[in-house]
Amino acid sequence: MYHQSEFGNLENYLSEKKHLKNNSCEQALNVHIFTGTVEFKKHRFKSISLFLINVFDGKALEIMSKIFILLCITIALGTTINLLETETSDWFYILGITASMVPLIFSLFIQHVLEYHRDTFCRKCGKKLACEEIGEPVLKETSDHGDYTLTVTRYWKCRYCGNIDTREGPEGIYIKKGEMRPIIHLKSFECKKCGGIGTVKEFKRPDIKEIGNKRIIRRYYKCTLCGHEDIIESEETINRSIHARGS
Ligand SMILES: [Zn+2]
Ligand SMILES: [Zn+2]
Repeated sequence: MYHQSEFGNLENYLSEKKHLKNNSCEQALNVHIFTGTVEFKKHRFKSISLFLINVFDGKALEIMSKIFILLCITIALGTTINLLETETSDWFYILGITASMVPLIFSLFIQHVLEYHRDTFCRKCGKKLACEEIGEPVLKETSDHGDYTLTVTRYWKCRYCGNIDTREGPEGIYIKKGEMRPIIHLKSFECKKCGGIGTVKEFKRPDIKEIGNKRIIRRYYKCTLCGHEDIIESEETINRSIHARGS
């Protein structure tokens, strides 16, 4: 199993449209399985990542990242304790907290480099910067009444030994089940098949996924008259400054 670091960057992801277009859906006993494709992983800061990976090995990078986190905590704690114990001015506090952000940024950057290292490392021949993505990455979503899961499968080929490694993981995409809308909201809905008005209701809780700053909501509707099912996806932009990522 391959798990991406929790800082895995989301905008690596897809152009939504491409994803929607390629989606296919199978259904069995109220379980919907969606298969689509996503884009190849994009790595930013490539040249400096290459340099760091060539110079250090994975272990060293991991240790560096941890040291920077510790440094961040130490500076922040030091500043706070100093403020509580002595009468220091506000600007000292602001300066201290700002200074503690610098190692944090370094740590996040190294996490990013580490991700690049893990992606390109060949587990068979042990060579660094060896693997490249091949084939189409697959996005698979499974949704039943209470559960919603998502996995991305990518294929990496080593350019030295030719080994193909299949890696699967959630890639840090935030998913959850939403709540069904009250029937009153669907009063004016028209069934696309029989034209019945107010006969459509949701038959299972919606699937919600957040990719980058987009929230994609998939709702399942069924006509009580003719039984026609309709799956509708909508998309909204997440405003993170107002919206704290909820419950
Ligand atoms: Zn290899
Ligand atoms: Zn109908």
